[in-house]
Amino acid sequence: MRNRISKRVKEKHQKAIRNVVKGLSRRVEVYKQSQKLICPNCNYDKFTDSSTGKCKYTPVQAIVKQQEWEAAGNVTVRYKYFLKGRCPVCNGRGYLETTRKTWIDALVTWDPSARGYGNSITYGPAGAEGSTIVALKTNPKHFDLFKNSTKIVVDGIDCKMSKPPLLRGLGAQAILVITAFTTLKQSIDSNEIIKDYT
Ligand SMILES: [Zn+2]
Repeated sequence: MRNRISKRVKEKHQKAIRNVVKGLSRRVEVYKQSQKLICPNCNYDKFTDSSTGKCKYTPVQAIVKQQEWEAAGNVTVRYKYFLKGRCPVCNGRGYLETTRKTWIDALVTWDPSARGYGNSITYGPAGAEGSTIVALKTNPKHFDLFKNSTKIVVDGIDCKMSKPPLLRGLGAQAILVITAFTTLKQSIDSNEIIKDYT
């Protein structure tokens, strides 16, 4: 009997949290694993894992390609003729590394143990000393995104997940709980913060 009541209370609580997530959530930046793209401007040599140092295009072709690229709404330099040597697009690496990130809405609780939510938080070895814990509650649809993320930026502060994302509850009542930590040593880039709040 006690279990049944507590389960109902729990479900009610989770439903309430989901409503709060919708209403009071903040925007959190989630970084996905970076993607390697073979340089569009030069030839990549897989044996040396670098650029062959030769442009794929003639000077005119490169200009046309870049114009098409910009016409499609891009601002980056992707096609630029060079005679020999270091490719100006990939700096001789032969590939471009793109950082992918996305914004999601989450309910943010800094230092949850100090606010009485501590029972559910287990401190991993990496997050134990000299770090601050942050708990995020969000929609379960973001499970894979967080699972494959490399970095989370909360209120302009870089965080790393201390354990895999946790689904709490079932069905429509389910919420996704993310536990992350940040080291106190990390300095906050003031430009970053300005960007985050615009
Ligand atoms: Zn290149």
